[in-house]
Amino acid sequence: MSPRLTKLIKSDEIDSAVQRLASELSRDYRGKNPLLIGILKGSFIFMADLVRRLDMPLEVDFVRLSSYGSGTESSGRIKILGRLNKPVEGRHVIVVEDIIDTGLTTAYFLRYIKRHKPASAALCALTEKPSRRRVDVKIGYLGFTVPNKFIVGYGIDYNEKYRNLPDICCIE
Ligand code: 5GP
Repeated sequence: MSPRLTKLIKSDEIDSAVQRLASELSRDYRGKNPLLIGILKGSFIFMADLVRRLDMPLEVDFVRLSSYGSGTESSGRIKILGRLNKPVEGRHVIVVEDIIDTGLTTAYFLRYIKRHKPASAALCALTEKPSRRRVDVKIGYLGFTVPNKFIVGYGIDYNEKYRNLPDICCIE
């Protein structure tokens, strides 16, 4: 039986949030040629919509991260699959994430980026679940706070499904 999906954030609300985030990033990064690094696969649609609203020179890269351990909860022990194609040293890096849950994955990746001596490193997240946070991560640019539910859509999957939904939904 397919799980029941309930709309949580409609596509037009997502559009407005992405526009707002793009305005904030344009204000802060104009003239800095930022390097946006998307965490695959969940950030691919968010990244695509975000960069098309950023009217300034920038570069884009992607990485895949995998969390060791079983279950749906991240263990905090993260493996970076593949290498970054662009050098990070001296660059203004913006990490683009779909969802910050415990924060462990992002905290790990930000530490990795900072070891490579960027000019600056910031985090732009589409969603976060503050009730689940286990480590402190500073989200400089945030789309939405979501309740402690399992969300899908707008690039975010459940067993590789539902990434193509235009809205963000939760699985009941
Ligand atoms: P964290 O290390 O912050 O706990 O985990 C972040 C990752 O866990 C996200 O990038 C995502 O892959 C996964 N995750 C956490 N919450 C959800 C959720 O509600 N839905 C989906 N599809 N993935 C989630």
